[in-house]
Amino acid sequence: ELDVSRTIKWIKLANEKIQMNKDYLTTLDQPIGDGDHGINMARGFQAVVTKLDEEDYQEVSDVLKDVAMTIMSKVGGASGPLFATVFLKLTNALKGEQIINQKQFAIGLNEAVSGLKQRGKATEGEKTMVDVWSPIADLFQTNEEVDHSSILQTASNALEKVKDMMATKGRASYFKEKSIGHLDPGAVSSYYIFEALAEV
Ligand code: ADP
Ligand code: MG
Ligand code: MG
Repeated sequence: ELDVSRTIKWIKLANEKIQMNKDYLTTLDQPIGDGDHGINMARGFQAVVTKLDEEDYQEVSDVLKDVAMTIMSKVGGASGPLFATVFLKLTNALKGEQIINQKQFAIGLNEAVSGLKQRGKATEGEKTMVDVWSPIADLFQTNEEVDHSSILQTASNALEKVKDMMATKGRASYFKEKSIGHLDPGAVSSYYIFEALAEV
């Protein structure tokens, strides 16, 4: 169950992981991109945490709305509007609820994935963050009791698969076959978001 304080904890923990892995995310973006993903995410999520510390929140959706808005204005690149979209879709799906149960969260994630795919005109198997968000949404959809280890397992399996995919969306698609064998930076930062979720 997610309430306001746990949601804030989730996002702060995600930020810690992103800050800790800033250079790693950028390294992942070098062979199949422009080497700025760690910089984009670290800048954006730091601004998110600063924003969350400034405000008092009544509802989970209010927290997620500020997360989405701050990501939109501070992350930049291709990933900024896409991460903003997932958090905005979650915001809209969870509006009016004080405590989010697993079923509501599953619905929210489903909306988030639909929005993400629409916004990026991408689908599963194209070596993007979709390939982490979509299996996690499926996990929540198909299991009544999602626990810490099932989230981690699903997310790490997803990353393993992403490695072997050929990119057909975003900058990595310019590298065609050469993108095979590399991890996708946006998939890895999405992994940190769900690792953080598992830990709260
Ligand atoms: P940029 O490519 O503009 O430098 P980033 O480096 O911050 O932006 O983000 C790159 C990440 O964005 C990729 O690793 C991928 O996961 C994600 N991405 C790019 N294009 C798309 C898309 N069309 N749909 C979904 N995700 C995408
Ligand atoms: Mg980049
Ligand atoms: Mg860039």
